[in-house]
Amino acid sequence: MMSSMVTRRGFVGSLVAGAVLYATRTQGAASRQGASPAPDPNVIADLVAGNHILVRKGVMQINGHLSARHPSNPDRFLLSRAIAPEIVQAGDIMEFDLDSNAIDARGRAGYSERFIHSEIYRARPDVMGVVHAHTPSILPFATSDIPLRPVYQQATFIGESVPVYKNGESGEIVSNAEQARELVRVLGGAAVVLMHGHGEVVVGPSVRTVVSRCVELELNARILQNILAMGGKPQYLRPTANDGGRGGGRGRGAGGGGTQGGGAQGGGRGGFDRDWEAWLLEEKRLMGR
Ligand SMILES: [Zn+2]
Repeated sequence: MMSSMVTRRGFVGSLVAGAVLYATRTQGAASRQGASPAPDPNVIADLVAGNHILVRKGVMQINGHLSARHPSNPDRFLLSRAIAPEIVQAGDIMEFDLDSNAIDARGRAGYSERFIHSEIYRARPDVMGVVHAHTPSILPFATSDIPLRPVYQQATFIGESVPVYKNGESGEIVSNAEQARELVRVLGGAAVVLMHGHGEVVVGPSVRTVVSRCVELELNARILQNILAMGGKPQYLRPTANDGGRGGGRGRGAGGGGTQGGGAQGGGRGGFDRDWEAWLLEEKRLMGR
């Protein structure tokens, strides 16, 4: 028990050490390029671990991304360069302004969908973490007449149902600020918005919370699919006061935005730190450290 605790701390320490190295390099760049003060190394470590966790939990594949608002500069955010989330390390994390311009690119390319993140951080001061993914279990609800609604207690943060944003007839990516602003309008004050024929966006008050929300949302989607596959009629759960308490109508369709579930402050999660600790241990085992 003790040895596993020590090992775990060693692993977590290695994540933070990578983040400290990032911070040291960023400090040097900051004076040259106008970057913000180096963020808390723990935020970088959470971003790196969160990318890996989301892949392992089936939320992300090759193309998803996880960002954090810069903890000491609310007009900036932190997001990996355009690589698969599974291989993101501290040195891959870039700083962007709210127009999605890289502050210190050093030859690194950003994701073309990064406008999703910048426009959410611009419009939602409560949001500190954003995930965009194309999760297989969630996609059926983005591209059908079946709404994504809560059937599992840990997913009541989504509100009564999740709004759907539609970008054209072919599920195109959001690749500019104008498209992203429309997505943000449909998201409204909610925690999740689906993207027709494409995927989903989840927001939260921290990186850890948004990662946890993604995992629970993915599980909720599978449970709901199982109920429907069994031929049953889902008995949807009601959001609680801890979920933000702004339940409303269905909010389906391209206009959407009517359903306001748990905002970034909602969620009512009491145990996500326990989740996070377990996921870090799992990461350690898989990485052989
Ligand atoms: Zn996408």
